[in-house]
Amino acid sequence: MPAPGELTFVAPRGAARPPRHLADLAPAERRSAVAELGEKPFRARQLSRHYFTRLTDDPAELTDLPAAVRERLAGELLPSLMSVVRHVACDDGATRKTLWRLHDGTLVESVLMRYPDRVTMCVSSQAGCGMNCPFCATGQAGLDRNLSTAEIVHQIVAGMRALRDGEVSGGPARLTNVVFMGMGEPLANYNRVVGAIRRLTDPDPDGAGLSQRGITVSTVGLVPAMHRLADEGFSCRLAVSLHAPDDELRDTLVPVNTRWPVREVLDAAWSYAERSGRRISIEYALIRDVNDQAWRADLLGRLVRGHGAHVNLIPLNPTPGSRWTASRPEDEAAFVAGLQAHGVPVTVRDTRGQEIDGACGQLAASAR
Ligand code: SAH
Repeated sequence: MPAPGELTFVAPRGAARPPRHLADLAPAERRSAVAELGEKPFRARQLSRHYFTRLTDDPAELTDLPAAVRERLAGELLPSLMSVVRHVACDDGATRKTLWRLHDGTLVESVLMRYPDRVTMCVSSQAGCGMNCPFCATGQAGLDRNLSTAEIVHQIVAGMRALRDGEVSGGPARLTNVVFMGMGEPLANYNRVVGAIRRLTDPDPDGAGLSQRGITVSTVGLVPAMHRLADEGFSCRLAVSLHAPDDELRDTLVPVNTRWPVREVLDAAWSYAERSGRRISIEYALIRDVNDQAWRADLLGRLVRGHGAHVNLIPLNPTPGSRWTASRPEDEAAFVAGLQAHGVPVTVRDTRGQEIDGACGQLAASAR
């Protein structure tokens, strides 16, 4: 209790740090953390294997640890990071979106998408987003805070567990792909996202053993961070949210373009492709009468051809209150043809989860 007259400090929402978790720490840091708690360093490996391979953080299941230390180690290194507000399923259960509440009340979301040949999880790297793209629901609400490495990782570990336990329709399955296309700009939370990639792809017992090739980082085009990511030497895929081939329009659709224009973003992307050996994916939301003209398809084709990149067209998922909508089918078809005329591979993204506000920040936005 504060003494009379003493000031009490009330932390603003989002100010308290997320609890420290095993998944925030590199393997050597986990050993030190366990030693600081007075336990043998090899316990760190046992805890890691429980979390990343057995996918459990329940102290009762830590049966290879003495009963007396289970609660303490789990309490210190496997604290609860988030709780499920709700799951929403659609596409006959093949798509499942989860709304999470973090320790400070912040809401974030993740989506599991099951396909015949793969299972993809779309995760959030930030609560909200500071990039302010006017067509994106997350962009409208602004940035709440960065997620910790463990808060990013835990969305995926929970998804892996749900899949293994057959909670997603279609029977037990394994996660194959992770895309950083949920809430947030992953390269604006650089260190935590890179930490999460390491945790997810380090082999047992240090991490979850996913393939780097199955991970896609999607960015608005933060050029210095794109170069830094190339320096990490990952074989992750990079997706660039272009949405316009000309600076005049891109300045309005992706406002950070005023800092790093189209040319610089694409040069950084081609350099990432060269260094990682992975093809770049160019994301382009087709917005009716805004960016879907034949001349823009032609200009995009000229910019992209010859670099081994692939263009992923996303029919705009209209956000509540937005004046924009998806392109007409004939304009979409002409846009595809315009790119193909340059020999550029194009796909039109399937719009999984639209009826459950499945795309781009809408579930968290509707729960506010
Ligand atoms: N900040 C990162 C990743 C998150 S968004 C990025 O911008 O790449 C993942 C993709 O969804 C981005 O290409 C984004 O531009 C796109 N997107 C956002 N809102 C959308 C909407 N309403 N309709 C279609 N695509 C959208």
